[in-house]
Amino acid sequence: MINWNLDYKMIDIHTHMGPEYPIYYPEHDADSMVRYMDECGVELIVSAPCEDLFVTGSVRRDITTAMRTYPDRIKGYFAFNPNTGATVQEMEKAFAENPGYVGLKFLPDYHRTNITDPSYADALAFANERKLIVLSHTWGLSMNAEQCNSAEKIRQIVETYPDLKFIMGHSIQGQSDIAIKIAKDYENAYLDLCDTGRFNGIIEKMVAAVGAQKVLYATDAPMQGYRFIQGAVLAADITDAEKKLIFRDNALRLLNMEDK
Ligand SMILES: [Zn+2]
Repeated sequence: MINWNLDYKMIDIHTHMGPEYPIYYPEHDADSMVRYMDECGVELIVSAPCEDLFVTGSVRRDITTAMRTYPDRIKGYFAFNPNTGATVQEMEKAFAENPGYVGLKFLPDYHRTNITDPSYADALAFANERKLIVLSHTWGLSMNAEQCNSAEKIRQIVETYPDLKFIMGHSIQGQSDIAIKIAKDYENAYLDLCDTGRFNGIIEKMVAAVGAQKVLYATDAPMQGYRFIQGAVLAADITDAEKKLIFRDNALRLLNMEDK
């Protein structure tokens, strides 16, 4: 019997905001996302809006406004696109002006640039020095057969930058067994359940191999709903304490936040 009534709220470490090109979902703005979070028992999200990821030249208006309007509900990733770049000074200024920023967001496949390319080096060093989170899209083989963010490249990054906290977005789907190995081998590498959590048995496999403290609730909301991955975790054959780590406690630790 699945217990859907948790006595704590969840934290979703991997979300977006705003419209995206192939999908229509009207409730994509900060106000409607917070309403939807309330419905689904989510206290806090960390978000990288589509306007910063897919628009040429990052806009950063959605996220900075959302973080100011909902400081206890929405934190942000500074989206780094290697094609347009951002200097260390620009990142320093953005983080100083917006205390809600907790890390960087990379989309190497979409930006068609290997994560090991020198154009990422300054951003990675910036995150490493400040012990920030880096949430990167990671995937074994992308649609055009490129491997901009596949397992061996991710291994190199977590090895080279031991002080940043690297969240493997989608847990390197297609190479998830290697992602699990990387999370086991490297203190700073974390597994992210966004989409990949739907595979039957994978949550149990991750928890058995690396421990629930390295596994994170993550959804891609608002493109996908909070409930999708919630169902996968709630139905997984792991303990309630392990579920709480995945849904909440691990994110609090990564965000350097105390529980209330
Ligand atoms: Zn995503």
